[in-house]
Amino acid sequence: MNISLVAHDKKKEMIIDFALSYKHILSKHNLFATGTTGKMISEATGLKIHRFQSGPMGGDQQIGAKIAENNMDLIIFFRDPLTAQPHEPDISALMRLCDVHQIPLVTNLGGAEIVIRALEAGFFEWRNLINKKNNEG
Ligand code: PGA
Repeated sequence: MNISLVAHDKKKEMIIDFALSYKHILSKHNLFATGTTGKMISEATGLKIHRFQSGPMGGDQQIGAKIAENNMDLIIFFRDPLTAQPHEPDISALMRLCDVHQIPLVTNLGGAEIVIRALEAGFFEWRNLINKKNNEG
């Protein structure tokens, strides 16, 4: 599965702890992240992560583009709801595209704990079916 990891600044420590805890699951997938989040997670865990631009510089939009192309299967996005973000329109656009394309999106640790276990249990196989169907045209 193609998985994107994003965390606002005050949530970066949390996503690093999350990635460390579930490294054994995450390492089986293709990982993507916004710039700073990806750098911090890969330095802390050694996980290989494709890094987009930093969020405020367009990283959220780059993830959105992958969703629009049906190339992203899960978004784990630790949002900070208590701090104004300069790129709020980009964040809204990313979440909107998840809803347009039925892409699983979790925006906090509680949701992430559930989806990571669902991923491990094989609950994301429906994404392979959709991808296969799309490839068949
Ligand atoms: P960052 O971007 O990982 O580059 O900090 C995250 C965001 O603020 O959307």
